[in-house]
Parts: sequence; C-alpha cells; structure tokens
Amino acid sequence: LSDEVALGPGAEFDTIRALLARWGARAIGVGDDAATLSVARGDQLVVSVDSAVERRHFRPEWSTPREIGYRAVVAALSDLAAMAAIPTGILLAITLPDAWRAKLDELADGIAEGADTVRAPIIGGNMSGGTELAITTTVLGSAFAPLRRGGARVGDSVYVTGVLGGPAAALRSLEAGHGVGAHHERLKFPCPRVHEARWLAERGATAAIDISDGFIADLRHVAAASRVTIDVVGASVPHVDEVTLNTALSGGEEYELIVTTARAFDVEEFRARFGLLLTQVGRVTDGERAEVTLDGARVANISGHDHFSR
Ligand SMILES: [Mg+2]
Repeated sequence: LSDEVALGPGAEFDTIRALLARWGARAIGVGDDAATLSVARGDQLVVSVDSAVERRHFRPEWSTPREIGYRAVVAALSDLAAMAAIPTGILLAITLPDAWRAKLDELADGIAEGADTVRAPIIGGNMSGGTELAITTTVLGSAFAPLRRGGARVGDSVYVTGVLGGPAAALRSLEAGHGVGAHHERLKFPCPRVHEARWLAERGATAAIDISDGFIADLRHVAAASRVTIDVVGASVPHVDEVTLNTALSGGEEYELIVTTARAFDVEEFRARFGLLLTQVGRVTDGERAEVTLDGARVANISGHDHFSR
C-alpha cells in the first residue's frame, strides 16, 4: 500500500506483518504512531469498543479461530449499526498467548470477514502476549443524525428486525452435545445490521438498540433511556420453532435491531430490500415507570444474557 509505513525488525512486528499480509488491502495506513481519518462535514464521529475474552465470551472448544475473529469484529460493528452510523475504521488490540500463535492466520481471516461485512478498513491496533486470547475491537463510524436509546416517545411503535431465538437454539444444541444445529449461521456468523439501520433511520426511526444481551434486556435500556413504558405483544414476536417465546426474548447475541418510530415502516419494502423480516412487536405508552411489559404484565422473570455468569 502506498501510504503504509515500513515496520521495523522484531518478533512483535513479525506477528503484525503476518496479520497485515493476511488482511491485504483491508488494512490501510497501519504502521504510523496513530491512524488518521476523515469525517464528512456536518457528520458526527461515532465510536465504540468491545472485548472478546477467552472463556468469558467464547469457548475455544465450541468456536473455531475464524469464528472467534469474525464475531469479535461483528459484535463491535453491531453497536455502530444501533447508532445508524456508517463504519469508517476498525482498530484491534489483540492479546495473543503463545498457544494461539499457530492459529493467527485463521483468527486474521475471521477478523477480515467481519470487516468485509461492512467494507470497513482496519486502520490500526496493538499486539501483546498474555495468558488468554482477547480481542478488543474499536470501531469508528460517522453519522449525520446518530440514533440513540433515549429517543422513544409515547405513541411510537416498536419494531424488531429478523427472527429471534436462532443463537439461543444453536447454543442449546451445543450445550446438549448435539452440535450447533440448524441455526449455525445465526450463532457463528451474525450480520451487523448497518444498512438496515440506515434505512430505518432515514424513514423516521426515533430510537434504536442492537440485541446483544437479549430482546427484553435491551428493550429495557431503551425504556430507561427514553423514560417510557414499552408494551410488547408476545404473539407478534417472530422466533424460531426450536425455542419458546421466553427463550427467544431472553437470548443474547442476536445482533438484530430494535427500533421505535412515530410512523409505520413499510415492512414489505424492507423485506424486499434486505431479505429480512421487520415486525411491529409493541408500542411505547405513558406508563408510570420506565419498564417493559409483556402482554400487559411486568416482565420480571426474563433476564438478559450475562457474560460473567458463564
Ligand atoms: Mg449495543
């Protein structure tokens, strides 16, 4: 690359060179002290960071290095999608134990595939040794009017993208020793809904969040930030046959979007454009508390996915 700075000698730089060779044209301008980035006039810079740590966020016996690299990047990109931002750059801080060195190419390939989902360049990072594999992904994006969690207003409709429960069904199948099953792709290679979010933002979305902890758990964040009550109609929530509604509503790592709007979205147009369901699942009401109700009852027994509970 014309703007790439030559890296000096040494084992750490050899590792970085190996990564850069794997990433090819996806890595831009790596090797200077810091990355530089242009943002369109009038846009805001949108930034998020996310860590994937061995045995906290993934199990090496259940995930290939490629899947681990891919998911680390996509989980971070999903947060940009939730803000309706266009990803413009990715930085990766990798803690690489010696035992993982032989898997570096596969990890790099997964990271590259994650970046490819949104065509965002890898613009920098850091390598370090350590006792457990950890990938910390910083994502940069830009948006003229970022969507926030606190924008839901009384009277808004609540929509969700996709069909919920696939990751939960796949995880359950793994835990039962039956392999990953029919919903393999939804668990292993989720898609950040970046383009979908832009479409929704341009058509009047008022608030958004991506589902990382679980539908109800993340919807609670919207209710709290917007200081509203959100009523969910259980029967309207699309979910896979293999899990119950409650499992679908509590399962994490969906990376689908929840959005609110004062208008009605054209769900047929959305489906035709993205090959993905968009479903109205509830309404924002002026209840007394900032909370989520399911079919009129307070939801107390559906907890979110907690990374520290594994
Ligand atoms: Mg999020």
